[in-house]
Amino acid sequence: MNVSAFYRFCSRLSFTILVLISCAISIHAADKVIVLKAARLFDGKSKTLAQNGVVIVQGNKIVDAGSNLPTPTDAQVIDLGDATLSPGFMDGHTHLTLDFSGNYNERRLKEVDLNVSEQAILATRYARATVEAGFTTVRDLGSRFVGSKEFVDVALRNSINKGVIVGPRMLVATYGIGATGGHFDPTSGFRDMLFGHEPDFSQGIADGPDAIRKAVRFEVKNGADVIKAAVSGGVLSLADEVDTPQLTPAEMAALVDESHRLRKKVAVHCHGDQAAKEAIEAGVDSIEHGSFMKPETLTLMKNKGTYLTPTLMATEWIMSKIDNYPPALQAKAKAAAAARSDMFRNAVKMGVKVSFGTDAAVFPHGQNAKEFKLMVDLGMQPMDALRAATGNAADLFGIAQKTGTLEKGKCADVIAMPGDPTADITATERVSFVMKEGKIIRNGPPSAPPVAVSADAEPEIPAD
Ligand SMILES: [Zn+2]
Repeated sequence: MNVSAFYRFCSRLSFTILVLISCAISIHAADKVIVLKAARLFDGKSKTLAQNGVVIVQGNKIVDAGSNLPTPTDAQVIDLGDATLSPGFMDGHTHLTLDFSGNYNERRLKEVDLNVSEQAILATRYARATVEAGFTTVRDLGSRFVGSKEFVDVALRNSINKGVIVGPRMLVATYGIGATGGHFDPTSGFRDMLFGHEPDFSQGIADGPDAIRKAVRFEVKNGADVIKAAVSGGVLSLADEVDTPQLTPAEMAALVDESHRLRKKVAVHCHGDQAAKEAIEAGVDSIEHGSFMKPETLTLMKNKGTYLTPTLMATEWIMSKIDNYPPALQAKAKAAAAARSDMFRNAVKMGVKVSFGTDAAVFPHGQNAKEFKLMVDLGMQPMDALRAATGNAADLFGIAQKTGTLEKGKCADVIAMPGDPTADITATERVSFVMKEGKIIRNGPPSAPPVAVSADAEPEIPAD
């Protein structure tokens, strides 16, 4: 391997390897011991909260966690009082490099107007708002700037891992993979050939099994930790119907086979029922959105162990700001919103595995925790909602050995929220303490600007 190839190899180390290294570093005897105390503790997997919670941290790891643990001598004690300690929340569906939350047409104009570097600088604010809201890990499912081939999500992840900026641990997808004219085609809705060429695998657009394999390989080569694809239409795209299938079963089989060979999970954007059925049969790891899935499809999902990432916040935000979107998108949003509540209630009743995920970027970054109340309002038990954002998410992300629960040996990703979230799930929206890998990111009010960073930020979302 020559010097430049070696350099490229090093710069493309995957997220998982970085986590393994960062959390496997042995604890130095000199590392200060920090003891976190609070009235309650949620460990990320149990069915009840523990009382008199204690988490003992040394270096970047949890040394012990439980009820009424004795305080080691010389430890720094942080007593958070009437609060609940929890593993850092995990959001399985964000777009930290983007902000779709304002007026749709203004945003589209801004996207082609602004230098991509300037958009990347804005993304550093979104990353900070997300981790300060208690989300210490995100699966960032797609980053794309029309007319650009920059990997801004990879740059953001690497800068966070190197400590250059503050943000959550990120698993990134680079470009979502999809069909010509489909939900992810960045030129859809613009005049033909406005950008001089049709997008290809190097922007995630692929038709046919071989092209799909090439797109997967290209993304992994450039730093993808997880593969994202659109198998059905979407709400915020101008040239497709929201529920039609967009990949063939042969294309989905190639997508899953190639990704799994390269040890990457597959998350698929999917609203439609037929596309969901075919994707689940093809072996995808998670269905994102899933608005129109029928009970038979949910049964298939349950039997296959496929995760659902519900992203209720996305529909909630769009419906509360419906005038921000062109009429064609309004109609698609209304159809998806009308279907998704029954779908989610059915999924909960049937015991389909759920991983918390919001589609942050559709709404302002930092408001991710509002998803918890939407899940509970649609029939999920508060403890199950909390597990969806911790232990379950870590399982789906493939990093359960390292994080997602408060247990000896895990990464010290610990947050605290006031009171008891099982009595009032909106406590999750008021996280006041955040530690990521043993480093305290926040203890008290967030840094300015506050959690909502969009110019159009309006934190109030109507109840379902
Ligand atoms: Zn999304």
